[in-house]
Amino acid sequence: MAEYKGYSVNEIRFLPMGKNVFDTFEEVSHFILNTLPQRGGTYYYKKSKMNCAASTLVLFQYDGQLIGSAIYLATVQLEIPLLMDDGHLYNGYYQFAPESIQLFTEPIYASDFKNIDPSFTRFGQGAKIIDLEYLNPIINLIDGNKNPIKIDVAITIPEEVSTLMEGAKKTITVNAYERNPQARTLCISHYRAKNNGRIKCEICDFDFGKIYGEKFSEKIHIHHIKEISSIGEEYEVDAITDLLPVCPNCHMIAHSKTPAYTPDEIREMIGKTKNGE
Ligand SMILES: [Zn+2]
Ligand SMILES: [Zn+2]
Repeated sequence: MAEYKGYSVNEIRFLPMGKNVFDTFEEVSHFILNTLPQRGGTYYYKKSKMNCAASTLVLFQYDGQLIGSAIYLATVQLEIPLLMDDGHLYNGYYQFAPESIQLFTEPIYASDFKNIDPSFTRFGQGAKIIDLEYLNPIINLIDGNKNPIKIDVAITIPEEVSTLMEGAKKTITVNAYERNPQARTLCISHYRAKNNGRIKCEICDFDFGKIYGEKFSEKIHIHHIKEISSIGEEYEVDAITDLLPVCPNCHMIAHSKTPAYTPDEIREMIGKTKNGE
């Protein structure tokens, strides 16, 4: 089984990124380097979607070149299309592993690729599937010659001890589970799917994207619901049942006593009822 970035790669795909979405190479680079990681690896698609296996190596194709890559985890189809800032409707999104997203310092051209696969002619419009036998040569192309720009996503090693995080007005105590980037990604992806693509505070409904603009949609905090003292040594965080997206205000209130206020207790303070669970 071939591995890349800690994932057993099941498929390789080229994902064309349209000139109708990104006018210039600068725009598409900015999207891969900044927007995509800031949104926790969610890549919205309009109509057509790729049907690929979990942990597919996706190579971003733009203007007849391969310019970056990421590991695909899942597709989330929305029940109602989501209207984004750009005025377009999106039917769903691909979830990429945020720490796997990278932009190549030099693009891979059709001629580079032809050296690997002699039957290859040119980059087309479809999400092309590449034979897995080419994985190692492709990795060599990416990592050997091209020195990809790695996106700096902080990886935290779970620890039992709480750490302090500076809030705007008050210091909030968060625990290591709330800072685990993988758990955070899965939690946000789960709640996006549940809320038709939106991410909001699950206590008071505050939506960063709606208030400040879409690029801030993932400024949401992740609150760990379980009481640390009730957790045994073998505990592994469940991103869906143990974590909850909350705004910094609700988060601060939750941690204003020990043990923390429960989401229901805070909902009661502000006169909210639990929404449809
Ligand atoms: Zn809130
Ligand atoms: Zn918390």
